Amino acid sequence: MSKVRHILGISGGKDSAALSIYMKQKYPGMNIEYYNSDTGCELAETEVLVDRLGAYLGEIKRLRAAEGSPEDTPFEHFLKAMGGFLPSVQQRWCTKKMKLAEFEKYVGDDYAVSYVGIRGDEDRDGYISSKPNIQAVFPFRKNIWSLDVINKVLNNDNLEQFIAYYEELCPDHLKEEIMPIVQRPISKQYYYSKKLNALTDVDVRLFNHVVFKFLKTTDYPVGKLSEEEFPLLDNDEVLVKEDIFRILRDSGVGVPSYYDEIPFEVDGKTGTYCRSRSGCYFCFFQQRIEWVWLLEQHPELYEKAMSFEKDGYTWIQGESLAELARPERVRQIKLDVIKRQEEAKGRQQSSALVDILGDEPMCTNCFI
Ligand code: SF4
Repeated sequence: MSKVRHILGISGGKDSAALSIYMKQKYPGMNIEYYNSDTGCELAETEVLVDRLGAYLGEIKRLRAAEGSPEDTPFEHFLKAMGGFLPSVQQRWCTKKMKLAEFEKYVGDDYAVSYVGIRGDEDRDGYISSKPNIQAVFPFRKNIWSLDVINKVLNNDNLEQFIAYYEELCPDHLKEEIMPIVQRPISKQYYYSKKLNALTDVDVRLFNHVVFKFLKTTDYPVGKLSEEEFPLLDNDEVLVKEDIFRILRDSGVGVPSYYDEIPFEVDGKTGTYCRSRSGCYFCFFQQRIEWVWLLEQHPELYEKAMSFEKDGYTWIQGESLAELARPERVRQIKLDVIKRQEEAKGRQQSSALVDILGDEPMCTNCFI
């Protein structure tokens, strides 16, 4: 049997941190390689988390792009190569060059299963490697498989095979309930997610074992493992946000301190701010209030981010960091947040900034 590597990326965010702890606790026998992409541009709070996790897990491999460059950080190396063109939501060269390329180099041509911390309460799909030798698996979700696997397994072209596997693996007492679902073809009315939910609602473990049997007939990395080497087949736990915080606290690793809500006051009214996700300190995904947090909590990093804004390139579309730092602008941004937090309180919802800004990381490499 060919060797398949188990790999887990530590982004510096809470979800991947919790996943690494969860996997180590639950599957101590699995030989998981933990890695972190070192951009040289993370907050000190993130570095603290990665160090603490390293102590907990044993080892975290640090992958650093542009090693040997005369520039201070990989980011500055690539920024220079890009002629000062700042990355943006539309042109995200930063993730590709500093993280994805290094990760794919690290894995090389080996078969690998990459464990990704998308939670059970998130409705989105994560990184699907463009390289066929890397397969993403999502242990926190009810459906641990990626979209491409689901689309293959449930495809009508494979229906006969799918039915045969269920016939073989399904215990007799479940057959009456489950076989009509298994046999029903995908159609416009009965699409993939509907069939998937119906099957996993009856028995997640059975579904996993059927998928596993199917993967054995493909070149997917999980299909090259034995059941003992892939114990997630029998995992039907679904983990949500509260579980993540609990795992971090109970393990002693702790929640990254950039999540701490810090109070501020404007015109006698109080609000709170923090940083809602990990990633580079200048990340263009952050909201204006997070830039204000950076300005006031890490002024030297704000300065540094500002120094990258040249020749009309700005981190925020239509507003430079120099403009955002003006006292009247800061005041306005804070007042907007206070208003949103008061409205949330009025609706009896959480007014914490992380909840108000939402929790859509947008990028599994940077924020999970
Ligand atoms: S955290 Fe933001 S700036 Fe840094 S690599 Fe990811 S997307 Fe780019």
